[in-house]
Amino acid sequence: MVVVMEKGASTDQVKAMVERLHEFGFRTHLSEGVERTIIGAIGEKTAATIQLLEVSPGVEKIVPILQPFKLAGREFKQERSLVKAGSCVFGGTHVPVIAGPCAIESEEQFLECAQLVKQYGATMLRGGAYKPRTSPYAFQGLAKEGLRILSEAKRFTGLPVVTEVVNPRDLDDVAEHADMLQIGARNMQNFTLLHEAGLARKPILLKRGLSATVNELLMAAEYIISAGNDQVVLCERGIRTYETETRNTLDLSAIAAIHHLSHLPVIADPSHGTGKWRYVTPMSLAAVAVGADGLLVEVHPRPEEALSDGAQSLRPQVFADMMAKLKPIAAAVGREV
Ligand code: PEP
Ligand code: MN
Repeated sequence: MVVVMEKGASTDQVKAMVERLHEFGFRTHLSEGVERTIIGAIGEKTAATIQLLEVSPGVEKIVPILQPFKLAGREFKQERSLVKAGSCVFGGTHVPVIAGPCAIESEEQFLECAQLVKQYGATMLRGGAYKPRTSPYAFQGLAKEGLRILSEAKRFTGLPVVTEVVNPRDLDDVAEHADMLQIGARNMQNFTLLHEAGLARKPILLKRGLSATVNELLMAAEYIISAGNDQVVLCERGIRTYETETRNTLDLSAIAAIHHLSHLPVIADPSHGTGKWRYVTPMSLAAVAVGADGLLVEVHPRPEEALSDGAQSLRPQVFADMMAKLKPIAAAVGREV
């Protein structure tokens, strides 16, 4: 349920209410909005407890949450959340574009790519140091050396960086180097990892599983938020369908659905969503038109030499073109890139 405090409720009243809820055995999540404070309370409630809580000082009303995702849902919080990662803000008017290669392959490759995507307008850098590959024989990433290169690129460009964490054991290491931690599609329901991400003090980029429903994605976000971290950005990256022309089917209706169901920002990844570089620009434009709160795009200085996902990686010049085409589309929907 949500305890909605009155507009003028004092800090002491909010504090007292939180303590009261704890006495009744509830876990609480405070959300201080511009207008008023609301307290999410999770636990067993009886009509008698609700009656008592409802007449406590400073309380306006108590609203039950029917959605299964208690903290990620719109019932808990009506206004859209803003999630900040370094200088990047997801969920506001500006639409951040995260760009970089699938994997950090070497210092030269990554710094070259980082400098180019920055020049063409990217607002955040990406690059995998730990790569969850379908084949155990494929390039698995540079691990700690990759993290060092990531930090180097951050210093070199001044852009914030996001990278994937695959194993809970690496979480502290990754959090030391990255401004945002990515949980990949294959790990969307790795509940240990989700819980650990909930204890981290860094924003999380949570990608939709290959065959996960929107409901399951929001429940995965709920794991992170309920563990204490409400800085979650969701990512639609395509789902498995019977279509083979594209690697996955980028489900743009999920973006509209998530905005309806949840207050969390949601971005689109047309690179993994389509698997082919030719489709990345048109699907990026469509994603922004439908209301995506950001884009994640793979760019490689020489896609033909990429150690992973070359087929879906944009050449820097194509990325520059895409950025130019995005501007009028963003403007048409009241956003900017
Ligand atoms: C990635 O972003 O490089 C990646 C592996 O994505 P996903 O988890 O969506 O496949
Ligand atoms: Mn990739």
